[in-house]
Amino acid sequence: MTLRILITGGAGFIGANLARFLVARDHRVTVLDNFRTGRRGNLEGLAVSLLERDVRESIPGDYDWIFHLACPASPPHYQADGLFTLTTAFDGTRQVLEVAQRCGARVLIASTSEVYGDPQVHPQPEGYWGHVNPLGIRSCYDEGKRAAETLALEYRRKFGVDVRLVRIFNTYGPWMDPQDGRVISNFILQALHNEPLTLYGRGEQTRSCQFIEDLLRAFVRYLQVDRTQLEAFFAPRGLIVPVLNLGNPEEYTIADIARAVLALLPESRSTFAFKPLPADDPKRRKPDIAWASELLGWQPRVSLTEGLAKTIAYFRGTL
Ligand code: NAD
Ligand code: UDP
Repeated sequence: MTLRILITGGAGFIGANLARFLVARDHRVTVLDNFRTGRRGNLEGLAVSLLERDVRESIPGDYDWIFHLACPASPPHYQADGLFTLTTAFDGTRQVLEVAQRCGARVLIASTSEVYGDPQVHPQPEGYWGHVNPLGIRSCYDEGKRAAETLALEYRRKFGVDVRLVRIFNTYGPWMDPQDGRVISNFILQALHNEPLTLYGRGEQTRSCQFIEDLLRAFVRYLQVDRTQLEAFFAPRGLIVPVLNLGNPEEYTIADIARAVLALLPESRSTFAFKPLPADDPKRRKPDIAWASELLGWQPRVSLTEGLAKTIAYFRGTL
């Protein structure tokens, strides 16, 4: 069945991949974006309708499904204007929940592993409340996303909006902005240009890296789940709003990731350069994906080496 689908932030990394995935399956896709961190080129040749506007303003149109992704996601971008990030997270999510309420749409809201902060529980299950510094340079994003989750809860309680939260763990792949400062895009670009790979701190902090295709499969399966089935799954777990971690539980140090990139580019003459560790940089991160596996029958399939190879091929094509 052809669905009317809105993707906010559809010109960004995840959104542009999702738009391609949905258009290829014959859905009618509308992208809302103000191109703050997204790129027009990401939508080139794609059969989507474009609403060029800020997600903090009221949203026109009628939709069956909404994917709400609009928000800067890379630390240098979201910290560059923290008020923009915080208001986008709160006011933008509110506008999305309003349109979902008006249309009776199912809405998936992109939250983040950052809601767990610098976690003291490892790996992180959805039931963990997190360890976030509310007054740090990451808090515009972390607290913004936490407030967005609370908005989802209140729209569910007060208006019955069919909202589903995802806490996305570090995801990478084609259509990433090579300049947006995230670790995998930085390392690949540096290696392709024979520049030193910039490891922050001693490169001992960990992340789990999910390839974009794995995330998209889970997104769509999650929205396909019937509402009563969702309630039956989450109510006994003490949750009013469905929330799932989506990430690849394979955990790597940042130095491991740097070595994996160089192993795929043996011709590169890059070395390592150690830079100061940014404030509040989480030391460890790894999703517990038991709920997503059980509810969606989903597991990430793409290994780090395979995903990096596909991402390198994409970046090579953009040089
Ligand atoms: P991105 O920066 O590539 O894309 C974000 C998109 O939102 C861009 O196209 C940008 O122009 C748009 N946008 C930002 N503020 C806007 C506003 N006020 N109005 C309209 N459009 C706006 O980031 P991404 O990696 O594609 O992330 C998408 C979503 O997923 C974000 O909500 C992010 O928090 C979440 N997320 C991503 C990751 C990841 O690893 N990529 C991890 C956790 C959560
Ligand atoms: N990082 C790094 N070198 C870089 C960019 C990032 O060592 O050039 C580190 C960063 O300090 C963090 C991890 O890689 O520990 C992931 O950073 P990213 O910005 O991709 O996402 P985060 O998980 O911090 O939101």
